Amino acid sequence: MNLTVRAPEAQQTAQPIETDAVIIGAGPCGLFAVFELGLLDIKAHVVDILDRPGGQCTELYPEKPIYDVPALPIVSGQDLTDRLMEQIKPFTPVFHFGERIDALSRNSDGRFFLKSDAGTEFLAKVVVVAAGGGSFTPKRPPLNGIEAYEGKSVFYSVRKIEQMRGRDIVIVGGGDSALDWTLNLQPVAKSLTLVHRRDDFRAAPHSVEKMRALVAGGKVRLLIGQVTAVEGADGQLSAATIKTGDGIENIACDAMLPFFGLTMKLGPVADWGLSLHENLIPVDTERFETSEKGIFAIGDINTYPGKLKLILSGFHEAALMAQAAHKIVYPDKKLLFQYTTSSSSLQKKLGVK
Ligand SMILES: Cc1cc2nc3c(=O)[nH]c(=O)nc-3n(C[C@H](O)[C@H](O)[C@H](O)COP(=O)(O)OP(=O)(O)OC[C@H]3O[C@@H](n4cnc5c(N)ncnc54)[C@H](O)[C@@H]3O)c2cc1C
Repeated sequence: MNLTVRAPEAQQTAQPIETDAVIIGAGPCGLFAVFELGLLDIKAHVVDILDRPGGQCTELYPEKPIYDVPALPIVSGQDLTDRLMEQIKPFTPVFHFGERIDALSRNSDGRFFLKSDAGTEFLAKVVVVAAGGGSFTPKRPPLNGIEAYEGKSVFYSVRKIEQMRGRDIVIVGGGDSALDWTLNLQPVAKSLTLVHRRDDFRAAPHSVEKMRALVAGGKVRLLIGQVTAVEGADGQLSAATIKTGDGIENIACDAMLPFFGLTMKLGPVADWGLSLHENLIPVDTERFETSEKGIFAIGDINTYPGKLKLILSGFHEAALMAQAAHKIVYPDKKLLFQYTTSSSSLQKKLGVK
């Protein structure tokens, strides 16, 4: 398969963000790619479907200790992410959270055109696919006909809080996302009902405490039970049926946010025309480049003989990828190998000189 080339008419209409590099995925490897590219003066935009950085580390195991990141004998998934965010600060990457890159094609001028599901468009000289196991996709609640409401009145993430102002909102779930959004949306909602199947929450204790205070103050309604049906027309929700220990309750609502966890699916990566092997992107081990010149793949998404799906492997891959990317972004510049300890120009970029 080959990457699609965009039709010239389409290239004239859009006003994309122009940048050196777009990194798809803000997991640990995507974040470290910002650093390695930044040292070589390559500016990056980073896009992730999640609403925060860290990929698997923050989504799947934020509090679990990792023991095999060099020089950090023990570090949690969240702490590693926070440290990476600190380390890449000097390079001022632009993050686009809550957006999934759906389209990737080549422009006739050789650059890459990318478009997210939120409509953000990019033109980049190089692309770094750091998509891990693929996009995190929300689990759909087992409710008949829920698909018809998705994106109109049933949402699995909140892009703009303002869109929720004045609405009668039902939030379903007991984890961090459900509790965070209960706390964030309560001030703008007309009414907010939190539904969870048991009176025990997996979310951070301080969020649970705050939620309980809002319930005690009559600002949030807490129902222990399960949503069994939704009603509405033309994608607009009007009510939800909740089965509680006391019976069946029908509550009026015009927005529902179910937070039933996430699964990882390869997603749009499969549609971009890149060669794939068992849902992974084959790369060479010198440049970590895919079947398309200028598109690199690092971290869990790539494959090569001897590949180990470890964070430290992705860090190494990011360093070599950046060297290769430099040749494309600055074809006329010779790249000098330098150490951060001794190069005053690198130290200047890092803001330490
Ligand atoms: C429970 C557990 C424990 C682990 N323990 C260790 C350990 O001790 N040591 C170790 O080295 N490794 C460990 N790992 C593996 C490690 O987490 C992964 O190797 C690492 O997260 C890979 O990083 P990544 O940046 O390649 O991808 P990920 O962390 O998977 O991040 C990829 C990101 O890309 C985003 N994305 C994908 N497609 C798109 C798209 N089209 N548009 C926008 N965004 C997209 C995803 O939403 C995701 O946030 C562990 C993994 C798990 C699950």
